[in-house]
Amino acid sequence: MPDFELPPRLPLARLPTPIERLDRLSEHLAGPSIYVKRDDLTECACSGNKIRKLEFLLADAREKGGDIVLTCGGIQSNHARATAVAARRLGLDSFLLLRGEEPAEADGNLLIDRLVDAEIEWITPDQYSRRTELFADRSRRFREAGRRPYVIVEGGSDAVGAWGYVLAAMEIREQERELGVRFDWIVSAAGSGGTLAGLLAGKALAELAGEILAFAVCDDTGYFQTRAGSILRELTDRFRLPLEIPPASDIHVTDEYKGIGYGLATQEELETLRMVAALEGILLDPAYTNKAMHGLIAEIRRGRFLRTGNILFIHTGGIFSLFPMKENLLRAPPR
Ligand SMILES: *Cc1c(COP(=O)(O)O)cnc(C)c1O
Repeated sequence: MPDFELPPRLPLARLPTPIERLDRLSEHLAGPSIYVKRDDLTECACSGNKIRKLEFLLADAREKGGDIVLTCGGIQSNHARATAVAARRLGLDSFLLLRGEEPAEADGNLLIDRLVDAEIEWITPDQYSRRTELFADRSRRFREAGRRPYVIVEGGSDAVGAWGYVLAAMEIREQERELGVRFDWIVSAAGSGGTLAGLLAGKALAELAGEILAFAVCDDTGYFQTRAGSILRELTDRFRLPLEIPPASDIHVTDEYKGIGYGLATQEELETLRMVAALEGILLDPAYTNKAMHGLIAEIRRGRFLRTGNILFIHTGGIFSLFPMKENLLRAPPR
């Protein structure tokens, strides 16, 4: 493995997460072997992929003397929730810019934000698109009040946060050895691009043979190729990693399965969620992992992958956003 130095990290996640073969789903589809990496088991209230990024981001916050962490997201943001909870585990405060109007009832991730007493400011989609300015302004106000703010960008997707998935790729390489399996494809959902960028860097550093495939849940293929490329460039510059940045066209992203919009799900998508739950006892989330799984199943049915191949699906978490969707979920018949 090439020589490089890891940035500071706090051990906040329960690692390594297990890899399991989805026997019944693989058999049902009569295609490649599908395995799942259980990053939904990284923690309880901090579960999902964001805590891997927060191990590095909050270590950086600590090193810089931060006492309040600012971040942003949608109403049901897993990232905002994981940040708010992880901050408390370190004795820090959090301030969340959430996009939308305050709902009458706090459910799912928002309930948890409330339980850990995160400070929340509700902002419009227009304000959200200018969030960098907003962060600068709110940071200035906190500093004037004697606080030491630390800003974490959307999804924790920058060069520091991406380290979480550089390490995850190394973990996967180790587990390939233990299990005696080589994954041909490593699949995950993409929302802000940090997981994808980290996996790409980790693939190069750990010499993973498999290709990384991302299913966009918002924006489009070109956006994620550019975004992942720029996070990779930031990683190589800032941490002097010996990486070659792949050309955008070599980064595998599909935007065909993002459906009717961010955080929304069609009945057809929810049938996939119920099918996987009923076959495997694995709960996907409507905003990310189920879109990726719905897309993966469609691509398997189209014959995109070798029947003898091995696919590793990264379950990036999101369980709490199931609850606000309960009515739609129960309308989708199980298959
Ligand atoms: C944020 C998130 C993703 C996407 O990860 P990015 O690094 O933002 O692309 C996938 N799944 C879940 C459950 C998430 O919360």
